[in-house]
Amino acid sequence: MPVTDHIHRNIEHKCRIISNRHINDDVFILEIENKVIAGSSKPGQFVNVDCGSFLKRPISICGTDKDKGTFSIGIRIKGEGTRRLSTKIAGDELTVIGPLGNCFDLSGVSSLVAVGGGIGIFPLMFLIEEAKRMGIKSTAVCGYRSLSESFCTIELSGKADRTCFSSDCGDMDFHGNAAQALSTLELSRGQTVFTCGPIQMMRSVYSICEAHDVKCFASLEERMGCGTGICLVCACKIKTIDKSGNSDYEYKRCCYDGPVFDASEVVWD
Ligand SMILES: Cc1cc2nc3c(=O)[nH]c(=O)nc-3n(C[C@H](O)[C@H](O)[C@H](O)COP(=O)(O)OP(=O)(O)OC[C@H]3O[C@@H](n4cnc5c(N)ncnc54)[C@H](O)[C@@H]3O)c2cc1C
Repeated sequence: MPVTDHIHRNIEHKCRIISNRHINDDVFILEIENKVIAGSSKPGQFVNVDCGSFLKRPISICGTDKDKGTFSIGIRIKGEGTRRLSTKIAGDELTVIGPLGNCFDLSGVSSLVAVGGGIGIFPLMFLIEEAKRMGIKSTAVCGYRSLSESFCTIELSGKADRTCFSSDCGDMDFHGNAAQALSTLELSRGQTVFTCGPIQMMRSVYSICEAHDVKCFASLEERMGCGTGICLVCACKIKTIDKSGNSDYEYKRCCYDGPVFDASEVVWD
């Protein structure tokens, strides 16, 4: 089951940006100095970043360097908040809350497949890094719009035991999205699949896993308000069984109870 660790909820950290690496026109990676976050973050967790506008923006942690006391976040420019972050330079100060949310649980996992689409690839990079550190075999299946808009393929190839990069326009290993690429790979029951990306892609990933009787965990990137479980903006439907044994559902907070959920418990509507 995904593990919950909320001890850092609501703790605001004033951090220093070490670098801002622009990967392509709209994707960049910030390396940020903060020993507490670097030392305590787990794959799947996120930080809520102050962009200088009303609400903080949730961004997944895509890696840590405990020795340097830094963590990294990878961002695609979407609107005003992420555009402002893209202009940050080394030495600038950034206020963040985190690490927030639960995490991908690797206990008992011997072999994993990480299936990511677009910005959903970022939290999976941290997962693959952790799997390598723990000696867990990993396959990275990552979907991009095109080769020119792809990112971090070299880093992923260096950390995962096997990779399959797909693109919507067909100029990478596979033509199609990451779920379609997954469907061409052999899945075995001992493997665990972790996925993050567009909801349609994750729904397809879960269907493939269900058909192969493979455990699947999905990180849901719902729109968030507070990021700390108070405002209920990010409610998502999770299956339950009522007292008479009938299937039902309840709302859980993506930011606080998630973002990682057992995909078999998610109501994929
Ligand atoms: C758990 C989680 C992890 C995420 N990790 C990443 C990541 O690693 N890299 C990355 O580039 N993006 C990530 N996102 C999406 C990112 O939070 C949004 O792209 C960002 O908030 C957009 O802000 P904006 O001001 O640029 O855009 P605007 O569209 O101007 O945002 C306006 C408002 O909508 C909210 N919002 C808009 N889109 C989203 C969205 N998809 N999810 C949540 N809130 C949204 C913003 O928080 C803001 O309050 C993640 C989202 C969640 C929930």
